This record gives sequence, C-alpha cells and structure tokens, in this order.
Amino acid sequence: MEPVYLDNNATTRTDPAVVAAMLPYFSDQFGNASSVHAFGHAVAPALREARRSLQQLLGAASEAEIVFTSGGTESDNAAILSALETQTGRDEIVVTAVEHPAVLTLVDHLESARGVKVHRIGVDGCGRLDVDAYARALGPRTAIASVMWANNETGTLFPVAELAERAHGAGALFHTDAVQAVGKVGVDLKATAIDMLSLSGHKLHGPKGIGALYLRKGTPFAPLVRGGPQERRRRGGTENVPGIVGLGKAAELAAAHLRDEATRVRSLRDSLENGIIAAVGHCVVLGDGDHRLPNTANVAFAHLDGEAILHHLTAAGVAASLGSACASGSMEPSHVLRAMQVAPQWLRGAIRFSLSRDNTSEEIGRVLEVVPSIVARVRASSPSWQAQIASDDPPGTNPSIANPPSTNPPSMEPAL
Ligand SMILES: *Cc1c(COP(=O)(O)O)cnc(C)c1O
Repeated sequence: MEPVYLDNNATTRTDPAVVAAMLPYFSDQFGNASSVHAFGHAVAPALREARRSLQQLLGAASEAEIVFTSGGTESDNAAILSALETQTGRDEIVVTAVEHPAVLTLVDHLESARGVKVHRIGVDGCGRLDVDAYARALGPRTAIASVMWANNETGTLFPVAELAERAHGAGALFHTDAVQAVGKVGVDLKATAIDMLSLSGHKLHGPKGIGALYLRKGTPFAPLVRGGPQERRRRGGTENVPGIVGLGKAAELAAAHLRDEATRVRSLRDSLENGIIAAVGHCVVLGDGDHRLPNTANVAFAHLDGEAILHHLTAAGVAASLGSACASGSMEPSHVLRAMQVAPQWLRGAIRFSLSRDNTSEEIGRVLEVVPSIVARVRASSPSWQAQIASDDPPGTNPSIANPPSTNPPSMEPAL
C-alpha cells in the first residue's frame, strides 16, 4: 500500500498538472525571456501569465508587484535586508520568537555580525502573539517588522493585517512570511497595508527552488541578488522559466482548491485530531484552536518520545514529522514549542500531521487504525509512564493547551 503522506508543511507533492505545464519549457520552449528573437518571445507570455496567476491568488493590485525568487528563504532574506538598506536612520528589526529559520537565522546573524537590534516578540501557550509587546517594540528606529502569516509547526495564524497597520504607525515597513498561508487561507493584499510577502512554490504543490516576493507598489527596495535587469531590476539572473511556469500553474490550482482546503481538508484534520484524542487520551492539540491553518494538527502525547512514535508511524506507512521538520534529527525541542512554554510532559512527544488536498478520508481512517497500537507500544516501553501520568495535573488545566479541536468554529472562510 502507498504510504499516507501527512507532512505537507515540509513540502507538497508537485501537482501532475504543474509538471505537465513545466515540461515544454525544458524542451521546445528553452528560450531566454530577455532575448529579442523568436525563441525569447515564445516564453515571455508564459512569465506574464504566471505573474498574473500569482497576482490573483494574492489579491495584489498589479502583476508588477510580483518578483520571482528562488523560494521562501530568499524572499525572506531579500525583504529584511532591503528594509535595513532603504530605511535610513532605522536599524532595528521586530520579529516573533516563532519565525521560520529563514527569518530567525538571518536576524541572529544581523545581530551578531552587524549589531542590528532585534526584538523577538513572544507568544502565549496557544502560540498567539503578544500584540502589546509587539506594539511596544515598534519605534522610530524600527526598519521593518516581519511576522509570519501562519506558523509552520502549529498552524497558528497571526493577525498580520492589524500588525501591518501598527508597523506603519511607527513609520516601519511590514513583511510577512506567508509561505504556509498562501493556498491554504484567503489572502487579499489590496485590503491590507502589508508591504512585502514571501511565498514558496513547493509548499503549494508547485516545484522546489522557486518562490516569489510580493512588493507593494511604491515600497522602497534594494535587491538582494544584483546582476542583469530581470524582474524590473529587482532580482538579477536569468529567469527560472520552467519553475515560474510551474509556480503560476500551482497558484491557479491553489485558488481553485481554496474552498476544499477550508472545508474538506479541515474536516479531515479535525476527524484525525478528534479520533486520536478519543482513542488514546493523554494527548493535546498544540496551537490556537480558533485561528489555525485548516491542514495542520500538532498533537502532543504526554510523557512520550516523539522520535519513537514517528519511527513506528513510518514503519506503518504514515509519513508525519516531529514538532518541526527543521528540528528533526536534533535533540533540541522545537524553538516554537519552547517559545510557547509548552509544559515538559508534552514537549518531546509532539507530532505534526499536515494534510493537503491530496489526502482522502480513507487515508485518515488508516492512520486512525494504526495510532492506538503505536501509542500503546511506546507507552509500554516507557516504564515510568503510568507514574508520570498519575502525577500530572488533570487534563484541561494545563494553560499551555489550545482549545480542543471539537470546539473549533469553522472560521477563516476563504476570501477567494
Ligand atoms: C518552508 C518554509 C520556508 C522556506 O521556504 P523555501 O522555499 O523552502 O526556501 C520559509 N518559511 C516558512 C514558514 C516555511 O514553512
């Protein structure tokens, strides 16, 4: 039997229609878009169409606001570094403590190598941003505030439209890493003050190594990659034409599937969570129960070793991940769960299941069949498990736990 793939926040299957759209651009349509002859002319319309598909998915005012990059990491780096260069007299950055390493590793470096002051705003037990602390950190020296739209480990959604307004109130630029949000929740940039947004092809059933930076018209920008005049001089280098075409197709498909994500995928995710909780007990869902991506379930099993659970899941044909793909292989608990101050009994036993439109209810049924015996086995091999459980607070009294999924209202209706 095919394994059940529930690791879509790490990467998604490239949609076969995306692959089909890309193929001609590896063969007949090999031209360089900048060339004046027919070979170049043949690919320019494909780039325009991809840009238009992204503009529509994002609700951007103009296709000129889309800059193609090599992915989410490059877009994040370009946005933050640009702000430091263009915002003269401003040398501080405001981020959250739960950003992706594409942001956190960069700001750590800027802090130690360039003396940039970085404010890392904390979150509560459900992963929600301390908005007051955010507002206090903004000031006349803030170059940019960068807050992710949705967290990759817990799916928690941040109020980025409001946060952008507050950044502007302090005269700062606002960027959002929306790599996990685009294609999963409705985005309408025209209706917000967001200046820059990052997205990545492979998180929305497109190819790897391609992404985009949304750059609102009029936003000052200093390129990260300098070279030829491509992308209106905002990103040098010959365009990755097959990748751009694939990303455009992926954006088109994401817009068409958005409602499925908000309804069917959400209901599969909820039945997975509820099924696991009902079957094994002594587990909780981490993250904001009310404001969360429809596809993400971060389930923590009390006093158990997540690595052991993951190992058994893999053997049973279920692909999931520890708290975060980036933390896998290291013994450090995830920086996100640590920032949430998740109590020790949950910290090591968090498993992230992330679904996509590819998943079926039959697959979720198969997962629910194998989870109880896996958890029983891991508990049986943890000799002190019974004693540890007995000494815990009663379930539900732990402040670091989100609302149980059964109480989730069907919020976040897509705008598209
Ligand atoms: C995956 C991811 C990235 C990195 O995107 P790449 O295209 O792989 O560079 C950045 N931010 C978030 C939130 C992500 O999930």
